[in-house]
Amino acid sequence: APVVGVLALQGDVREHLAALTGVGAEARPVRRPEELEGVHGLVLPGGESTTISKLATAFGLLEPLRARVRDGLPVYGSCAGMIMLADKILDPRSGQETIGGIDMIVRRNAFGRQNESFEAAVELDGVSGGPVHGVFIRAPWVESLGAGVTALARHEGHPVAVRQGNLLATAFHPELTGDHRVHALFTEMVRRAD
Ligand code: GLN
Repeated sequence: APVVGVLALQGDVREHLAALTGVGAEARPVRRPEELEGVHGLVLPGGESTTISKLATAFGLLEPLRARVRDGLPVYGSCAGMIMLADKILDPRSGQETIGGIDMIVRRNAFGRQNESFEAAVELDGVSGGPVHGVFIRAPWVESLGAGVTALARHEGHPVAVRQGNLLATAFHPELTGDHRVHALFTEMVRRAD
């Protein structure tokens, strides 16, 4: 089984580990640079992207993460993880860094106060069997994307799931639902990349 790590600095790490295990991956938490070396794929969880960014810097993980992404490591980011994969944030908090890799600009907390949290059916290219149940919590959207990036899903016209090469990101949280089709899609990307 492919070994898939979950960056375990902050956020909904346990839920991603459970979803990955559910689709047949060997899931492990990653906190230290040495732990990053053994994985064939990595998930960046939902949580708070400023905190994840600061902890990644403090734990000496930011540069190793960037290097593995450059080398083609498959990475899936949900919500805060989507922000971490963006080359650019529209309004970064001070000191907020991303890993980058996806040629896109994201807007944090994009859906606004009236819509801080909501749920919606999301049609996702590459996932069959009907729409996924999108749980959005202070979610970002993709403000603009480069020519090499594919929008896999939109909500109210805004891209909320994207793929560029081995990198996958969703603004919503499939790990908080019992539906593991997005984790299955990602695990298949990891298998194919090996
Ligand atoms: N709003 C959060 C951020 O900017 C993301 C929220 C989430 O991951 N649910 O990091």
